[in-house]
Amino acid sequence: TGQAQLGLMNPDELAAEHEKRTAEYEALVARGLSLDLTRGKPSPEQLDLAAGLLTLPGEDYRDGKGTDCRNYGGLQGLPELRAIFGELLNIPVANLLAGNNASLEIMHDLVVWGLLHGTVDSVRPWSAEPVVRFLCPSPGYDRHFAITESYGIEMIPVTMNEDGPDVAEVERLVSGDPQIKGMWCVPNYANPTGAVYSEEVTRALATMPTAAADYRLFWDNAYAVHPLADEFPPAYDVLSLAAEAGHPNRPYVFASTSKITFAGAGVSFLGSSSENLDWYLGHYGKKSIGPDKLNQLRHLRFFGDAEGVRAHMAKHREILAPKFARVQEILDDRLGASKVASWTEPAGGYFISLDVLDGTAARTISLAKDAGIALTGAGSAFPYKRDPDDRNIRLAPSFPSTDELSAAMDGVATCVLLAATEKLLGS
Ligand code: PMP
Repeated sequence: TGQAQLGLMNPDELAAEHEKRTAEYEALVARGLSLDLTRGKPSPEQLDLAAGLLTLPGEDYRDGKGTDCRNYGGLQGLPELRAIFGELLNIPVANLLAGNNASLEIMHDLVVWGLLHGTVDSVRPWSAEPVVRFLCPSPGYDRHFAITESYGIEMIPVTMNEDGPDVAEVERLVSGDPQIKGMWCVPNYANPTGAVYSEEVTRALATMPTAAADYRLFWDNAYAVHPLADEFPPAYDVLSLAAEAGHPNRPYVFASTSKITFAGAGVSFLGSSSENLDWYLGHYGKKSIGPDKLNQLRHLRFFGDAEGVRAHMAKHREILAPKFARVQEILDDRLGASKVASWTEPAGGYFISLDVLDGTAARTISLAKDAGIALTGAGSAFPYKRDPDDRNIRLAPSFPSTDELSAAMDGVATCVLLAATEKLLGS
């Protein structure tokens, strides 16, 4: 195990260390593993927790208002289900829509409609602007960055702290540049660092002056009810904070049951001002005659109320918390003393962010790949996949079994140490 501080070794010690790590790595390759830590998918055991959904709603296809959920219509989604998630997200029912299975699709539509039509506060469509920029707290969520990249929106990385994005940096940027039209945010247990935005950071982001009147916070509360311990994170009322500061249309709030029930067959939510929602529904009404209300009804019956959601999340926690604890144990044990890596200890969400010795993340990931351990691609958590320090690796512990996870993490540690030793020897 790595019990010496690599950076303090003399060349002879390093050479010996390299030999040892190479042998360890060869033994790892010889095991012929085939393990995957790439994506934050729920495990089959977690999906089983929602097995009851598969037989709901049974013969009873009407909601409490008597709506026949088999038919077209109801663009806003079922009011009773919106009430449950409105309570959890701290958003009034009138300001919350329930949609289909992917909140990512709503985020994508909002970017595209901003480009094609402009927002309610835009003087022209974003696509008619000379350039459109988005702020991207980094490391962040690769699929957010993929949306903006695919439409040619210029992405500006912003420093991510433990209590959220660096507010001074954000303020400096948005106050001086009217081309900055949006910012990607994951306020609770951010992907991948696990950061929880503080109330101060939330308030600052919601209220700060911006050069663009049509600046939007893409407030992706994907892990709103996903703590790894007993306590749920706060749901700050970002809509009211922004409205009180004179920016009622600034936040678009997103959530979904993808990590609550079925990742591929859950319900998504969009919370925003009435003006934004009317605008959204105007465009959404062109692409759909209504969402999958039967799936929404299933979810309504399955949960019953907000407490039903919280109780359900406790079951996820029992499965997830030991996996996250195991990763921490292995990282501590294998990498703690070497001082070539640091990692986050998230209180919720789906990821651990591992920082290895600068200049060795891509090499570590490639060594792991050759040993049959798939990790998220190098630089994935950064705009344009450019990790300026080549140091960040996103770990997703949810899907593998605990045994597989242990083998994979032990293997990753071996790769981290070998890559670091190579680097120190070479430099
Ligand atoms: N936002 C974040 C921050 C996520 O981590 C994920 C899933 N990995 C999603 C959104 C995807 O959400 P959905 O399934 O509702 O599209």
